[in-house]
Amino acid sequence: MIYLASHIQIYYNIGTDEFNSANATIGLELQIYKGLSMTSYTPYISGSFIPWTGKTIESINPATGAAWSTVASCGIAEADLAIRNADRAFHSGPWSRMGPNQRADMLDAIADTLEARWQELVEPEVRDNGKRITEVRGQFAGLHTWYRHFAAQARKIKVSSHTNTSPGVRSEQHHLPYGVVVAITPWNSPLMILSWKLAPALAAGNTVVVKPSEMASASTLELARLLGDAGLPDGVLNVVTGLGHVVGEALVRHPLTRKVTFTGSDFGGRKVAEAAANNVVPTVLELGGKSAQVVFADANLDNTANGILSGIFLSNGQTCVAGSRLIVQNSVRDTLVEKLVTRAKSLVMGDPMKADTQVGPLANAPHLKKVTSMIAQAKASGADCLLDGIETAANRPGFYVGPTVFSNVTPDMNLWRDEVFGPVLAVTGFSSEEEAIALANDSNYGLAGGVWSSDPQCGQRVAEQINAGTVYINHYRSVDPNVPVGGMKLSGYGRELGPDAVSDFMQIKSIWTGETPIPDPFPIKQKEKK
Ligand code: NAD
Repeated sequence: MIYLASHIQIYYNIGTDEFNSANATIGLELQIYKGLSMTSYTPYISGSFIPWTGKTIESINPATGAAWSTVASCGIAEADLAIRNADRAFHSGPWSRMGPNQRADMLDAIADTLEARWQELVEPEVRDNGKRITEVRGQFAGLHTWYRHFAAQARKIKVSSHTNTSPGVRSEQHHLPYGVVVAITPWNSPLMILSWKLAPALAAGNTVVVKPSEMASASTLELARLLGDAGLPDGVLNVVTGLGHVVGEALVRHPLTRKVTFTGSDFGGRKVAEAAANNVVPTVLELGGKSAQVVFADANLDNTANGILSGIFLSNGQTCVAGSRLIVQNSVRDTLVEKLVTRAKSLVMGDPMKADTQVGPLANAPHLKKVTSMIAQAKASGADCLLDGIETAANRPGFYVGPTVFSNVTPDMNLWRDEVFGPVLAVTGFSSEEEAIALANDSNYGLAGGVWSSDPQCGQRVAEQINAGTVYINHYRSVDPNVPVGGMKLSGYGRELGPDAVSDFMQIKSIWTGETPIPDPFPIKQKEKK
């Protein structure tokens, strides 16, 4: 894929927060890099891609192992520039002065643009993180709906309210945007996860600085270009790229940052929470999971097998809600596991750009190393490997591991406790409902879970006792803008989506007005007569 490149001089002084976007550049430069044609992505600040001569990070195509683009490795100076531009856009630009209806109109225009041009975003994301083109197309064809939905929510949002207080005094509440929101995103579904943050944050009237994963930044920069084309005012959306502990942390620590929304690992989440606590800014943390799928003997096993397969092997297991622990009633355990292994073995591994591929690569080399070492560790700890995805992927270039199934996994094993974030299913058996619930809750995480049974009361009873932010009954993986998502325990705090999504990006200010004279607080008492 070749991008049209245009590079026009712009004035940019890193020592100040001045940025003149009058001669904006497309910012995507086709360069000859190490003898290869490479796309160079630069940061997007105040409506323009800025020129970049600093350090870069290579983006590797996980299907081939070869670099296909570079992104800027930004530092503290670019974090500062982006935040200051976002802050200026918030305080003096048109965005925060618009009424909610006008902002909603803008979000609808963004939705129109995405509906017409989502195809432009597909290839950069597949090249960056190796997600199958079929899945990416599915996500992106619906990307506009998040913006449309939160536009509608913004039109109904409460911007002020009155509260009854004591006679003679009136109190009103103003529901205000925070100001600059920092959104930090992971590599697995960069644009869908970003849209869950961006659409409601913008609808509430905030300006946003995004820090996508250093492993997959391209589609976020392409999205910024489309939002600019849709007419989003300069400075309302800014994107800086680079390492999390460098530029990500600088954004969170910036004194003008007012709210942080983070999706990523629990390790990254802890760091962000520490930095945000230091800066006294509220955070939402959407972190990892080790979700349990509890299958009762009376479940429809064919339907259940489809749910388990989609829960763990779609996106090659690289989803936060991956149903990675299968807890199945002993009487149907062998039957269900055989179905799963047979189906998983038959999946077609290949190039994620091809529509008939069913298993693509893992997203990057460090992740490949992590997943293969966790598989090796599980074998060494005594779990039975029924399907070995390292073997099925052997001799392939790129970062491939196929579907992997372990049986006889016990709660003392790392495979039971730690998130793999890959196509690895850990199976264990149970005999009683009580035991199943105890096993499901035997985890530091609490993101999602599934219950499979033909008895609706059993499904409901068990779902209510699983400690997770989302539990599905005879179903798995759905997400909807009306339904809140988020974790319990180590899976994070705060919620995204749902009826309060826009309000969650607002803060309340109370104004009191006195309507009657104030009595003297220190009246001079008349001397008591003797
Ligand atoms: P990660 O924590 O390594 O990185 C996520 C983002 O945080 C990246 O942009 C990274 O650069 C940044 N970052 C890292 N350290 C930082 C720091 N000190 N300060 C500021 N920013 C920092 O996660 P990842 O490997 O990109 O993503 C995979 C993880 O994300 C998995 O654990 C997965 O479960 C989780 N995830 C959760 C959800 C959810 O909704 N709960 C959704 C998708 C992914």
